[in-house]
Amino acid sequence: MTAPRRGEDATVREIADVLRPLPRLLVTAHVNPDGDAVGSALAALQAYRALGGEARYVQVGPIARTYRFLPGFDAIVAAPEGLDPPPDVLLSLDAASADRVEPVLSAMPAETEVLNVDHHVSNTRFGDRNLVDPEAAATAEVLHAVLRELGAPLTPEVATCLYAGIVTDTGRFGYPGTGPGTHRIAAELLEAGIRPEEVHGPLYRSVPIGLLRLTGALIAALETRLDGRLAWVELTRAACEEAGVAMKDAADLVDIPASVEGVEVAALFRETDRPGKTKVSLRSKGTLRVDRIAVRRGGGGHPAAAGFTADGSVGEVRDPVLREIEEAFADGGR
Ligand code: AMP
Ligand code: MN
Ligand code: MN
Repeated sequence: MTAPRRGEDATVREIADVLRPLPRLLVTAHVNPDGDAVGSALAALQAYRALGGEARYVQVGPIARTYRFLPGFDAIVAAPEGLDPPPDVLLSLDAASADRVEPVLSAMPAETEVLNVDHHVSNTRFGDRNLVDPEAAATAEVLHAVLRELGAPLTPEVATCLYAGIVTDTGRFGYPGTGPGTHRIAAELLEAGIRPEEVHGPLYRSVPIGLLRLTGALIAALETRLDGRLAWVELTRAACEEAGVAMKDAADLVDIPASVEGVEVAALFRETDRPGKTKVSLRSKGTLRVDRIAVRRGGGGHPAAAGFTADGSVGEVRDPVLREIEEAFADGGR
């Protein structure tokens, strides 16, 4: 693996200037992609093609089936396919650190210019040029600014993908990062011809029955500490198999403990497809910053939503992490 790149911060104009001559582009987004990752990457792909550019979208790892409705989905190439020939420019979207876009990043020769467009406060600036706006509620917002600077046509397909990225990363316009700018962009996307029900419907009103039953089982097993200020659930492969749900499709289950009255910090501990590795998702509804806990454990994210992968089984990882959260509470939200 090549050493991580480290570059300078760039402006929207500078990123657009790199793309304006339409170099051969490879778009990618972080592993275990959420709606912002897939939505932003598909928006970039289709906008670039609409400008007349040659682009591919290569994604690391499986994609949850809930995103299949997005325009352009069938054009996505699964890594390591699609890496040859190397592009002139790699555009990484919604990835806070280099490991989140491996093995795509390492496959790039030194001549390929790496653009890192993101909104995570923990972003490590692994690109040659880095456009990171932690004020943006979604990477789709940052990308929207780049596409506007480029003069890319806001087709209904591009607009739908950007809208999906914004809707998912803002918790349907409800998380703290949602600002006036978020709604202005959403208004522009509506003017471009998107139909909100065609995004919200597939995302939120089309849950497979097995996943709904699995959700029920997690609700029944939910546990709390600190008089209900800390709540968590656990997801095992066995539970997924029993419910007939693919692991990759069991997303957003951390919303279960996070939605409970009185909960300030919520956690989800889930088995991964790598033995002895547990994925931890953290959410905060109060002042405790979960990104700090995630960063200390090699992950990243935002103050109110962060994650990391830890060594050990769910049972081994759970107690030390819960204890660390309890200590952070005791320290006044450090
Ligand atoms: P998740 O818990 O996976 O829904 O992620 C919550 C937030 O934290 C998202 O913005 C992710 O991009 C970010 N995140 C999750 N896991 C990691 C990780 N291992 N490294 C960096 N950021 C992460
Ligand atoms: Mn994301
Ligand atoms: Mn995002």
